[in-house]
Amino acid sequence: MTGSKRSISILGSTGSIGTNTLDVVAHLGGRDAFDIVALTGASNIELLAEQARTVGARLAVTADESQYVALRDLLSGSGIEAAAGQSGLLEAASMEADLVMAAIVGTAGLAPTLAAARRGADIALANKECLVAAGELFVGAVKAGGGRLLPVDSEHNAIFQVLEENQRHAVERVILTASGGPFRTFSREQMADVTLETARAHPNWSMGLKISIDSASMFNKALEMMEARHLFGLSPDEVEVIVHPQSIIHSMVGYADGSVLAQLGSPDMRHAIGYALQFPRRGHLPIERLDFAKLARLDFEAPDEDRFPALRLARLAMDRGGVQGAVLNAAKEVALEAFIAGETGFLTMAEITEAVMDELAHLPPASHMEDVFAADLEARHRARAHLG
Ligand code: NAD
Ligand code: MG
Repeated sequence: MTGSKRSISILGSTGSIGTNTLDVVAHLGGRDAFDIVALTGASNIELLAEQARTVGARLAVTADESQYVALRDLLSGSGIEAAAGQSGLLEAASMEADLVMAAIVGTAGLAPTLAAARRGADIALANKECLVAAGELFVGAVKAGGGRLLPVDSEHNAIFQVLEENQRHAVERVILTASGGPFRTFSREQMADVTLETARAHPNWSMGLKISIDSASMFNKALEMMEARHLFGLSPDEVEVIVHPQSIIHSMVGYADGSVLAQLGSPDMRHAIGYALQFPRRGHLPIERLDFAKLARLDFEAPDEDRFPALRLARLAMDRGGVQGAVLNAAKEVALEAFIAGETGFLTMAEITEAVMDELAHLPPASHMEDVFAADLEARHRARAHLG
């Protein structure tokens, strides 16, 4: 720590979570309150350089090696160091900082986040793929490093807020809320030929492209079921999902006495981010306050696993255990990229994912991180074969 300032690095600072994090940092006092150590991005180096100058970061890293010289030029005269590629990302994660915001999208976030965890930083975790793919190995690495794991995914942040640490033995279930996304009321036939533009338009939350489409297919909720399981040490049948179209209840915990504790708020990621940045203190955040008279009602409906098979696949992956989470995630990422590129249909994403999960159901559980990366690679390879 530098004096009383909290030092932080943001992996994925140019994304939706990253820019929201910098917004919260500015609200909480900016450079007077935080020492920003490293920022990382990928292709958007203009924004990355501008962010680094604004907050006075020490290191700015682009994941894209071919952008290194351009980034270095953008930073010239600022005293901010530039780096690129996987080694640059690992360098950013390994620099001394009290807290690391893990906000890279997809499996690409796993290795850098792991490096930060091993170093002992507190991890503000937006990158759910770390837990989906590496589960207990990732949780174990954070524990061994000695840092805290602070969930930033809104549902898990909500559960973290209402899960009474000294009453864990009495937790019966966690209930993840799902908005249902833009296709909540669509038939399967209607979903078969939806476009990228309709799939990316989330009714309540403003998020990055991939997670928005994962929300439309409910693969996001599938990942979140696995994320919750590992974060809170639950068995698969203790993780429930309920569709709640208004996204006001961010999630709930059910206890042995029948009580259900919920966390409510406006659908604004800056809440969960601000909670993680200030934990265990609750400071002021610029979030729209709930007006219950205006809300008038909160609705709930059971999720439909026929129209949203991703939920069934999450249960299958949890029941099978081993590296099925890594396989589901990697196959889904390949299928998702193909959907974004217009190369495959919306419903095909789940079909390809399930086929690859079945093909790789025999893989043994991971004893090392290398096993996770190997399962990830093999699943990508298989998913591409299905795409032809
Ligand atoms: P995004 O696409 O908006 O931003 C992703 C960030 O990662 C950017 O900084 C981008 O430059 C960087 N990046 C992309 N590819 C990379 C690569 N190969 N290597 C290194 N860096 C790379 O994504 P987002 O919506 O901010 O989501 C980030 C993570 O947070 C995801 O894991 C997502 O599931 C999770 N999350 C996001 C939200 C949300 O509201 N956006 C909510 C909950 C959880
Ligand atoms: Mg979420």
